[in-house]
Amino acid sequence: MSGGPAVVVVLLLCAACKPPGEGMIALEGATLVDGSGRDPVKDALLLVKNGHIEAVARVNEVPVPRGAERISLVGKTIIPGLIDAHAHVERWATARYVAWGVTTVRDLHSDNDSAFVLKNDLNLGSVLGPRMFTAGAMIDGAPPTYANATAARTGAEVRKAVDQRAIAGADWVKLYTKITPELLRPLMDEAAVLRLPVAAHLGKIDALTAARAGVASLEHMAGVVQAAVRNPAALFRAHDQFLRGWTQEEVAWGTLDSATVARTARALAQTRVAIVPTLVLHDMLSRLDVPTLLTRPEMDDVPAEGASVRDVAGLRRRAGWGRADFAAFRRSRPRQDQFVREFQRAGGLIAAGSDAPNQLLVPGASLHDELSLLVAAGLTPLDAVAAATRRAAQLLRADSLGQLAPRKVADLVVLNRDPAADITATRDIAWVMIRGRIIHPDSLRKTWAH
Ligand SMILES: [Zn+2]
Repeated sequence: MSGGPAVVVVLLLCAACKPPGEGMIALEGATLVDGSGRDPVKDALLLVKNGHIEAVARVNEVPVPRGAERISLVGKTIIPGLIDAHAHVERWATARYVAWGVTTVRDLHSDNDSAFVLKNDLNLGSVLGPRMFTAGAMIDGAPPTYANATAARTGAEVRKAVDQRAIAGADWVKLYTKITPELLRPLMDEAAVLRLPVAAHLGKIDALTAARAGVASLEHMAGVVQAAVRNPAALFRAHDQFLRGWTQEEVAWGTLDSATVARTARALAQTRVAIVPTLVLHDMLSRLDVPTLLTRPEMDDVPAEGASVRDVAGLRRRAGWGRADFAAFRRSRPRQDQFVREFQRAGGLIAAGSDAPNQLLVPGASLHDELSLLVAAGLTPLDAVAAATRRAAQLLRADSLGQLAPRKVADLVVLNRDPAADITATRDIAWVMIRGRIIHPDSLRKTWAH
């Protein structure tokens, strides 16, 4: 080889002339809600490079490196990318999540194989969508509520079901309503060995028993009523059949007195279990008889494949719900809100989740409904934002998500209005950044508009 030293000199010169801010994006002048829980910071400067936050400061506090792409965001508010902690992710929905500012989802049951394939596609970046944590197919008692769940009859079967998920690459285990206390013990034991956290939609186990056994999250607040009432036997029995169990539990919320709700919330908060209340699910099911919910503007985001979102008539038929049931569900809503409020006051971890794409729950949009309902229940708007950012990231044990600070992932949402004053501002999205890439919801919507 000839000319070695000359090549070295040229390389050194190029390194010297390359601007230090090349490949960097500087977001200047927005109000920053960084997700840490501290007060919003005005005139913020965020430097983003290689999909990560490199620096967070005030404008003029640190210089913007030469060569950086500078974007003025004066008048806007930046929040961390939103996390939907309870979803059933379908392929059609992935871009919808991003358009609504949802950059991470926890998938708690879909078809086993398709969940793992989709998770790979999303996390490798070959499909545009949120990063995905998945439980794969949920584990239920026998016969299972859904044919694509895994049914377990014995301790050995439930252990095997947990093992299968670990091998397939699940991040979580989701247990469902027909799991009994006898099956819970081996399930928790196996999940602990494999270091898989457990999300529980309870039916035949009360919430305190499950929380003390080490369950990480209580979905839909299911099992709370069973923990609160003196004799839960009838509720446990009702859960032999999924919709009967849901109906009786939902109605029973309305029979609890406020002292019992407060005591149960405090006892649960002490166990360190998280709750994913999905108030939006409870709320929608209590209003299935309101036809205008089917014509909300965000329903335009739902294509023909998303039939479950529109299947109100089918669910009403299967459940046999009539006017009296909806009235009873609506009477229960204030008690559920009180539970959420007391759990928060007692220091419990609340994560926002939507249960989309179940009936009337539009992927992405429904998480914003959840934030509004958390505020209506008594959280401050910033606490609600935290439930969909830092608190959800804590639940996911995902240290690099949910906050905007150096070395965290550059997932963020630029809002036209400040959510600290009005939670509906989270819907007013200017653009979204996921892994450092800027996405404009309007141009994304054009890809599926009809
Ligand atoms: Zn669900």
